Amino acid sequence: MPIVQVALDIPLSRLFEYEAPTATVADIGRRVLVPFGHEEKVGIILAIKTAADCTPEQIRPIKALWQDVPAFSQNDLAFFHFCSGYYHHPLGQVILNALPPGLRKISGWTPPKRQTKTVMPETVPFPLLTPDQITAVKQIHGRAPGFQPFLLHGITGSGKTEVYLNAIQHVLQQGLQVLVLTPEINLTPQLELRFRQRFPLAPLVSLHSNLGEKERVVRWLRAQSGEALVILGTRLAVFCPIPHLGLIVVDEEHDASYKQQEGMRYSARDLAVARAQMLQIPVILGSATPAIESWWNAQSGRYQLLKLSQRAQPGARLPFIQLVQPSRRPAPQTISKTVLQALQQRLDRSEQSLVFINRRGYAPTLLCGQCGWVCSCTRCSARMVVHLRAHQLRCHHCGDRCTIPLHCPLCGNARLESIGEGTQKIEAELREQFPEARILRIDSDTLSRQDAWTEAAATIQSGLVDILVGTQILVKGHDFPGITLVVALNVDGALFSNDFRGSERLFSQLVQVAGRAGRADRPGEVMIQTEFPQHPLFMALLRHDYEDFAQREVEQRRLAGFPPFVYQAILRATAEKAGLVESFMQEAMQLAKSIAEGVEIYDPVPAPMARLAGKTRLQLLAQCNNRNRLQTFLTAWQAQLFTVARSRVNWVLDVDPLEL
Ligand code: ADP
Ligand code: ZN
Ligand code: ZN
Repeated sequence: MPIVQVALDIPLSRLFEYEAPTATVADIGRRVLVPFGHEEKVGIILAIKTAADCTPEQIRPIKALWQDVPAFSQNDLAFFHFCSGYYHHPLGQVILNALPPGLRKISGWTPPKRQTKTVMPETVPFPLLTPDQITAVKQIHGRAPGFQPFLLHGITGSGKTEVYLNAIQHVLQQGLQVLVLTPEINLTPQLELRFRQRFPLAPLVSLHSNLGEKERVVRWLRAQSGEALVILGTRLAVFCPIPHLGLIVVDEEHDASYKQQEGMRYSARDLAVARAQMLQIPVILGSATPAIESWWNAQSGRYQLLKLSQRAQPGARLPFIQLVQPSRRPAPQTISKTVLQALQQRLDRSEQSLVFINRRGYAPTLLCGQCGWVCSCTRCSARMVVHLRAHQLRCHHCGDRCTIPLHCPLCGNARLESIGEGTQKIEAELREQFPEARILRIDSDTLSRQDAWTEAAATIQSGLVDILVGTQILVKGHDFPGITLVVALNVDGALFSNDFRGSERLFSQLVQVAGRAGRADRPGEVMIQTEFPQHPLFMALLRHDYEDFAQREVEQRRLAGFPPFVYQAILRATAEKAGLVESFMQEAMQLAKSIAEGVEIYDPVPAPMARLAGKTRLQLLAQCNNRNRLQTFLTAWQAQLFTVARSRVNWVLDVDPLEL
C-alpha cells in the first residue's frame, strides 16, 4: 500500500504520513484531503513511499486525492524548500500559503461557470529608445546565458518601464513567460494597461489579494498551465507556479511593501532573485532610489548596474528643488509664508499643487497643556490619534476608538490641544488660508474603499482639484501632469529617526514625490520645509544625486556595522502575560548563546510597539558578518526553540528584518 508524505499548514517542522491506495509519483505536488485529529485538512503530497516510518496502527488513509488542477512542479517544490530553509519557517506553511485560498478549502475546488473576458485596448507602438535605454537594453540582451541579476537605476521619468518592456518582448519571442512584480495593488491597473497595449497577443494575468476567491484561482491556474505569458502581481505572486519562466522584473525594488510582515516574513524582492538563480534566468530590479542593499550588491559586482540618467520624454526637465526654513517668530509656522505664497501663485495660474505630509510618527495626539496628560491607547504602547472629522480618537495599531473627550480626565481642563501635524490639521489650515480652493485629502482613511484611488486619480487628472493633500500613498506611481508644485512637510523627524533606515526611506520618498511634479511640458517646482537645510541628505537631493546619498549611507553603515555589512535576524515573541514572554526570551537567549559561534546575540528588548492589542512584545537580535554562518546558527536555534516553546507564547523568526 503506497504511503504519502504530506505537508500541512501546521506550525511544526515535520511532514505527516497517510495511506493513499491509488497514489503514484505523478501525484507528488498534488492536493490531498487528510484527517488530522478530529478535523480534516488540505495538504500537498511531497513524496510516495512503500513503507511508513510510524507503526501501521498509527497510519490513517487519506480522504481524497484531487487531480483537478496541475501538481506543483519539482521546481516549485524546490523553491518552497528554499523559502522554508532561508526564512526558517515550516515547509507545510510555506507551501499551503503559496496556494490561493480557493485551493486550500476542504470542500475542494469548483471552477466558475463563466469566465470574465478582458477587453483589448488599442495597441500602442514602441517609442524610439533614448541612448540610455538602448545601452541598458543591449546589456540585458547581450548577457551570458543563465542567472544574471540587473539593477536598473533610473531617475523618475527616465523610462525604466520601456526597458522592462523591451526585455520582456525578447523573452516572449522565445515563447517563455515573464513575472513582473509591483509593490502596490493601486499601481497594477495602469501597468496592466501599458502591458496589454504593448503586447496585445500575449495573454496577461494580474495577481493580487484584492481579487475574488474564484477569480484568483482562475488566474493562478492560467499562469500555472503556461497559458498566461505575462504574470503581473504584488509580492504574493512570487510564489505562483510559472512553468516556462524566462525573466523576472521587480519594479520599485526598494519598496517596503515587498516585505511580508506577518506569517513567513519574506522579502519578495530577495525571493525573486533567489528564484531566478534557481532557474538560471535573468532578473531586473528597477528603481530611482534602490535599496542600499541592492546598491551595494551592484557596487560590489554581484548585480550588473544599468543606468538611465536622463528623462525619457524630449524636453522634460527635472523639477527644481528648494529648501524652505519656516520662521519661528512670532509663532512657529505649520506652513511657511514662502510655501503659502507659492500655493497662491498656482491658484492664480489655475495649476495644481500637491502637499505631501510625512506622517510616520507624526499623527496628531491629544494633550492637556495644564497637567501634561496625553491620551494613550489602553491596549497598546501608542498614543491615540485625533480624527477631527469623525470627532474620534483612534489607535492606529489596534483600531480602538472613542469620542474626543471634552475635559482632561486628570485635571478637568476643558481646553485640550491637538498636537502634531496630521493631514487633517494641515487640510484645515489650508482651507482657512485658501477658502476658494478645491482641496482633496488622500490618505489611508479616505482610501479605505477599493476603487477610491482610481476615482480620486480621475478627479485629479480632470483638473477638478487645486490642492491635493496626502501622505505616503501619494508618493507611488500615478502621473498628475497638471501638478506644478510639490510641497513636503514634516520631514525632519526621519532625519534623526532611531531606525537606521529612516534617512534611506526619507530620501526615496522625497525623490518620488518630487517626481510627481513637472512630468509633462511644464517644469515642476518642489519645496521642502525643513529646520535643517544644511543636512547632507538635502544637499544630495537638491542635486538629484542618489549616488552621493547612497555612497554616504554605505560608509555610515560600514562604520556603524549595519546591513549590508552584517546580516540580521530577529526573534519576535508576544503573549498576553508579560512574564511568559520574558521567561521564553531568556531561555531562547541562553540557547542562542550556547550555540552561537561567531554570531552576536543581543539581550531581549521590548519591540518598538512594546504592547500591541493587549499583548506584550519582545524581540531579540542575532547578527553576523557572514550570511552562511548566521543561517547555520538559525537552523540549529530554531530546532531548539521548539523545545522551550510555551503554548501561550507566539514566536517567529524574522530574517533580514526591515524594522528593528
Ligand atoms: P520611469 O518608470 O523610469 O519613471 P516611465 O517608463 O514611466 O519612467 O517613462 C516616463 C514617461 O516617458 C512615460 O510617459 C513614457 O511613456 C515616456 N517614455 C519612456 N521612454 C520613452 C522614449 N524612448 N521616448 C519617448 N517617451 C518615452
Ligand atoms: Zn491600541
Ligand atoms: Zn489635565
